[in-house]
Amino acid sequence: MLKGKRFYLHTFGCQMNVNDSEHVASLLLKEGAVPAVSPDKSDLIIINTCAVREKSVKKLFSYLGRLKQQKERQGTLIVCLGCVAQLYREKLLKKFPYLDLVVGPPQYQSLPAALKALELEQQKKILTGWERRWVELPIKDEARESQVSAYVTIMEGCNNFCSYCVVPFTRGRERYRPMSSILTEVKDLATAGYLEIQLLGQNVNSYQDPETGHRLPELLKRISEVEGLEWIRFLTSHPKDFTLELAEAMATYPKICHQLHLPLQSGSNRILKKMNRGYTREEYLDKINLLKSRLPDISLSTDLIVGFPTETEDDFQQTLELVEKIQFTNIFSFRYSPRPLTAAAKMKDDVPEEVKIDRLIRLQSRQKEIQTALHRKLVGKTVRVLCLGRSKRGNLFCGRNEGYQVVNFSSNTDVAGKMIQVKITGSGPYSLQGEAVI
Ligand code: SF4
Repeated sequence: MLKGKRFYLHTFGCQMNVNDSEHVASLLLKEGAVPAVSPDKSDLIIINTCAVREKSVKKLFSYLGRLKQQKERQGTLIVCLGCVAQLYREKLLKKFPYLDLVVGPPQYQSLPAALKALELEQQKKILTGWERRWVELPIKDEARESQVSAYVTIMEGCNNFCSYCVVPFTRGRERYRPMSSILTEVKDLATAGYLEIQLLGQNVNSYQDPETGHRLPELLKRISEVEGLEWIRFLTSHPKDFTLELAEAMATYPKICHQLHLPLQSGSNRILKKMNRGYTREEYLDKINLLKSRLPDISLSTDLIVGFPTETEDDFQQTLELVEKIQFTNIFSFRYSPRPLTAAAKMKDDVPEEVKIDRLIRLQSRQKEIQTALHRKLVGKTVRVLCLGRSKRGNLFCGRNEGYQVVNFSSNTDVAGKMIQVKITGSGPYSLQGEAVI
């Protein structure tokens, strides 16, 4: 019944959501549905949502509000997936009664059946039950965003309960994908010509093969042995679970990129404790120093929250101090906003909004200077770049270097999808410019 139906998938949020959307698209393609070029030319609109920050939920609600007219005009089916679906369930249907289905992350495999049942008007509108085991979903190459760099999910859920984070309530407890299945997918991707693999999970450092008990370093070793792959990345890592063994694996296997995203969240021990992060600033710094000693060229990025309840100017200065000391190549920084069900939501959100904004601006402007200086140091050097395609401006190509920095460059030949050498000729705070070296 889905055969020939045109579907449009709109994805909010992180790489995990992008990869989930690729899985969902694969399920629909398998049933004979076809991708639509735009929402107004579709029979089915699927929105994959993110609940991590209040801002992304507001953006989603405004998008859903705009779909009402289309529903009335064209009778398009509208399905809400993801963390917001899992979190708000009935509330979502009450606020947007024209939604046809609300499906949480643990229930994606039921989506085609639910859509068929919907046509027969026998379908419940909410699917948000929990899964305790790993559910294997197929993925088709044509559903992937890129034909050169692929996301591969290795675990899902989180047991950490950081006090500000809603993820354990939307994704549930940790479930690990069997290593045998990960390796099969990776080998298939390498055979199909993919050059880069990004292993995904909310907390990849806690990965444990349910069949053998092997941990992330062993998985990385096995993936490194797959012929044809050039680069392997993994995210997100939790600092408390980042081990010496993992640092050794990064230093030993040449395909593992010398790049790591390690969320710090705050530089103040008092705030880290209130966040229930399970490490101190000293322990975080020790791990960074270990990494820098084993991999002197490592490129580090992080997440930071400003304005967490009770955060003082002194706490914030301690965050700035670590940013200065570590010299991240990129940061993702946010103003704190309370999320439903979390421990922090019970704390008084007592840092005034204007103070949060001021701290965020100061943090981001210092980071901009750091990035500008780090990028400038690369000018004149020749670096390997995985070309992901044409840049938005069209006349240049765009890719990323091993440090995951954006490189826009010129080339006389079509190098899309290739690993090439690029001479860096210019830089700005957010990207590098260069010329392909033939
Ligand atoms: S580690 Fe903390 S921040 Fe990350 S997903 Fe788990 S609870 Fe959320």
